[in-house]
Amino acid sequence: MSIIVQKYGGTSVADIDRIRAVAERVKRCRDRGDNLCVVLSAMAGTTNRLVGWVNELDAAGHDAAEHDMVVSTGEQVTIGLLAIALRTIGVPARSFTGWQAGIRTDGTHGKARIEGIDASAVRVAMDEGRVAIVAGFQGISPEGRVTTLGRGGSDTSAVALAAALEAERCDIFTDVDGVYTTDPRIVAKARKIEKITYEEMLEMASLGAKVLQTRSVAVAMQHGVRVQVLSSFDENPGTLVVSEDEIMEQNIVTGIAYSRDEARITVVGVKDRPGIAAAIFGPLSENGINVDMIVQSASRDGVSAALTFTVSRADLPRAERVLDEHRESIGFDRVIGDSSVAKVSVIGVGMRSHAGVAHTMFETLSRRGINIHAISTSEIKVSVLVTEDYTELAIRALHTAYGLDAA
Ligand code: ASP
Ligand code: MG
Repeated sequence: MSIIVQKYGGTSVADIDRIRAVAERVKRCRDRGDNLCVVLSAMAGTTNRLVGWVNELDAAGHDAAEHDMVVSTGEQVTIGLLAIALRTIGVPARSFTGWQAGIRTDGTHGKARIEGIDASAVRVAMDEGRVAIVAGFQGISPEGRVTTLGRGGSDTSAVALAAALEAERCDIFTDVDGVYTTDPRIVAKARKIEKITYEEMLEMASLGAKVLQTRSVAVAMQHGVRVQVLSSFDENPGTLVVSEDEIMEQNIVTGIAYSRDEARITVVGVKDRPGIAAAIFGPLSENGINVDMIVQSASRDGVSAALTFTVSRADLPRAERVLDEHRESIGFDRVIGDSSVAKVSVIGVGMRSHAGVAHTMFETLSRRGINIHAISTSEIKVSVLVTEDYTELAIRALHTAYGLDAA
C-alpha cells in the first residue's frame, strides 16, 4: 500500500460539517487503498484568536514558549475531532500531537525549524490499519517544550512527515484548486498550472503567492517530496510540485507573483565611497531587518549618491529609526520612506535558456507608462518595484505579454 500524506488547511476543517466532509474524503481514499497520514491545521480563524489573546497579555512577546503553548492548541482540537468523525463512520484512527508524532525542532519559539522526525509511533498506528492524524504547526524543542513552526507551518509539518514516511506524495488540500499562473482575483484569465518545479514554487511562495508556506517548499525540494496542491471542496486534480525532470514541456515564464508587503527607503546624500553600503546595511541586519532590492544611483557631482532599497512594510518605521540612530557614522542628508510600492515578479526555469525575458518585462511596463523603481533578478526570476496603484495593471499586462492568458 502506498503511503500518502494529506494535509487539510483551516478552511477545510473550519466547522464540524467540514470535518465530517474531510472524514468522508479520507474514507474514500482509504477504501481505494491508500495508507494515510493526515496532518491538520486549526479551524480557520482559531490561530489568530489565540495569538490575539496572548498579545493582550504580553504584546512585547516576553514569553515565547508559553506563546507557543497557547497558539499550538488549535490543531489539537481538530485532530481529535477528525479522529472521532472517522470512528463514527467506521474508520479506525488515532490522533498525535507534534511531540507524540516525534517531530523534533530547534528551540526558536514562534518559528522553529524541524530537526528530525522519529515517525515510529505514527508508523505503528498505520501498520495496525489506523489513519494517523497529526497536529500540524507544532513540534518539541530540545528542552522538551512545545514549539510552533511559523504561520502557515502545517504545510511544513506535512511535507516533513511525508519525507520521514517516504510517502509517495504529499497532498495539500486547501480552498483553491491549485497554483495559478497568477492571482485569479486579479487576472480572470489566469490558468491553473499542471506541474511546477520546486524552484519555481519556492520563488512563487517567497515572492507573494500564499498557497504554500515557503519553508515547506524548501523541505520538499531538499527531500524530493512530490507535493500536490488541490481543493478539498471538489475532486479535481490540483497542481503538482515536482523536480524539473518530471516536466516535459516548460514555458519560459511559468507564473507572476506579487507582494504589497514592500516599502522603499531612499538614503539621500551619502558619500560615494567604499564602505558606505556596509555602514548602512550593517546596523539594519543587526536589528533583524531584511533588505531585499538594492539600487545605488550616482550623483551628477560624483561625490554624493543615493541608495534605494526595500524592506517589508512592517519594518519601515524601525528601519527609519535605525538609520537615524546611525546618522553620524553613515553620513547622509535625509531618509525618504515610502510604503506605497509593490513588487511584481515573473518566474520560470525556462529563463535560464532564453534571453529577452527581462526585456519583454521592461518594454511591457513602459508601454503602459509604469515606472520601475528598482529591479532584482535571479537565474529564474525578474522582480520589479512599482508604485502600488499600478500593481494590477502591471500583472495583467505581463500575463498577456508572456502568453499566459487562458484561451
Ligand atoms: N494554524 C496555523 C496558522 O494559522 C498553522 C497553519 O494553518 O498552517 O498559521
Ligand atoms: Mg496555509
